[in-house]
This record gives sequence, C-alpha cells and structure tokens, in this order.
Amino acid sequence: MFPTTIAGSLPKPEWLAETNKLWPQWRAQGQALQQAKADATLLWIKVQEDAGLDVITDGEQSRQHFVHGFLEQVDGIDFAHQVEIGIRNDRYKAMVPQVVAPLRLKGRVHAFEARLARAHTKKKLKFTLPGPMTIVDTVADRYYGDRVKMAFAFAELLNQEARALQADGVDVIQFDEPAFNVYMSDAADWGVRALERAAEGLTCTTAVHICYGYGIDANNNWKKTLGEEWRQYEQVFPALAASRIDQVSLECYHSHVPPHLMALLAGKDVMVGVIDVASPEVETPEQVAETIGRALQFVARDRLFPCTNCGLAPMDRGIALRKLEALGKGAALARERYGA
Ligand code: ZN
Repeated sequence: MFPTTIAGSLPKPEWLAETNKLWPQWRAQGQALQQAKADATLLWIKVQEDAGLDVITDGEQSRQHFVHGFLEQVDGIDFAHQVEIGIRNDRYKAMVPQVVAPLRLKGRVHAFEARLARAHTKKKLKFTLPGPMTIVDTVADRYYGDRVKMAFAFAELLNQEARALQADGVDVIQFDEPAFNVYMSDAADWGVRALERAAEGLTCTTAVHICYGYGIDANNNWKKTLGEEWRQYEQVFPALAASRIDQVSLECYHSHVPPHLMALLAGKDVMVGVIDVASPEVETPEQVAETIGRALQFVARDRLFPCTNCGLAPMDRGIALRKLEALGKGAALARERYGA
C-alpha cells in the first residue's frame, strides 16, 4: 500500500554542476563529465533506497534540463543559435534552441543513465521524458509553423526513445507536462492526444506529471496570481481519465488545488504530491501522513502513490535528502494509520 516515488529530478552535487539552478553549467567535460554523471546517479539511487522509496529514478543527473536533455539528441535543432523566448505563456524568459529542419533522433538519448540505474537497483525504475506539448513550449519554431504538427513530430521521437527505455528494463515511463496547466483547453484537445502518441505501444506502466512548476521565483510569483482555488486540473483530468495513460502525478500539499479534483481521475493511479518543492521547510512524517489521509477521501487506497509535488532539481541538496526521508517515513506512518 502507498508505494512512494518522486516526480523525477534531484539536485546535482556541486562537483557535477552549478547548484540551485534550473539550467546549470557542467563542472567537467568529456569522459570526466560522464563519470561524474554516473557517480551522481548512483549516489541518488542509494539515497532513495535508504529513504525507503519504492519506485526509483536516476534523479535526472545526466541532463542539464528536463527538456533540453532530450533535445540535444535530436537532428533538426540548432543549439548553436539560441534565442530568448517567453515560455509557459510568457511566465518567464529562457534561452532556447531553434527547430530549423525536420526532426529526427540522432540515436539513443538516455541509454547510458537508464542502463546504469537498471543495473544498480532491484527496485522498480521510473524514467522521465518531457511531454510533447511542454517541448513545443520550450523551443523556438522556425520550421513547422504549427504547434500541433510539431508536437506530433516530437511525440514520434519520444515514442522511439520510450520503447527503447522499456527494452532497457525501465518499469515506468513518465512524461512531464507542466504546459498542461497553462494551456488547458489545448491540453484537453490535442495535448493528451500527442501524449498518447508518445506512449503508443508501450506495455510498461505509463505516467504523466502535471504541476505548477519548480520552486523558482517566476513560478512562485505566478502561483500568487492564480487565486484561492487552482482549478487548472479540472479541464485536463477528464481527458486523461479517458486516455490510455496509467498514472497521473499532481500537486497537493501546500497547493490551492481543491482535493476533490482528484476524484476526476477515477480508474487511474494517482501520484499525490505530499512534499512541497517550493519551500525549504522539511515536512514531518505526520504532515505527509495527513496529506495522504486527505487524498484518501478522493483516491482509492490501492491507487494512491505518495510523491513530491514536482522535481527537486533547483533545491539545496541536503534539504532534498531530508525531504526524501520525510516522504518515506510519512508513507510508512500512513500505512500504519490507514492499513486494513
Ligand atoms: Zn513538475
């Protein structure tokens, strides 16, 4: 009961990359960088296992950013001439590469870290990829001229990589779609269809993570404008409930999402965010168990997966570690409290 997992990313150690940044610079190059990525991946697998988590990730230690890590292995993208655009409906500015030609994978994207993680944990392994709509929102288009067309082009590439990850022994493939909370009607219309295209033919567990973003200032300020009740999920969840995606990861603790919206996901596994990624204050096991108890009013007991609200990448490493421990301990407490 209550298998625990995280949204995906974890902070990079200071010897691997700049800390507390969303787009950090690597500290090394070539073989030394590859070794440092491997070391950081193993370190975080150990920490997740020690915290008692059930579904482990590679902590995204091998990618600079959750979207651009994938784009680096795609032909048709010009990384040399990045441009500044407003992303997530102009919430913040980012330097992004440009799509300049038909998109094609150069080869495998995440084989190295996926196989490494698979070889070093007997727990279930989850691997995260950016979703098609979020990619389209994090790149400049100079070729397709149509967001939907470009999203489906990316979905095809994501599907190729996802199938290969499944063959590497990954148990859960999760697509990250923070853009679903920004372009809600597009998400319900073509976003979910593009997501299903990305997950087509997969026999492993499939998941989507939808959040209000990392705990950075631009996101925290945006959240202040969303009012007392955050109802973004209300438009997208019915389309997801009708989709073939197995699991949905959402924000709960410290958010203004009305908990009853989780009931819209009947029939799906729900990864309930019980750890706040926007606050350095570490949750107590008691607080985590309480959040699980509240979610149980709307999510079936055998479908509830305690999780973090979002990735922990830009956070202090020591705090992230203690938050993972709180997640493990809080879920254990909830099992005692709400067990049969
Ligand atoms: Zn997120």
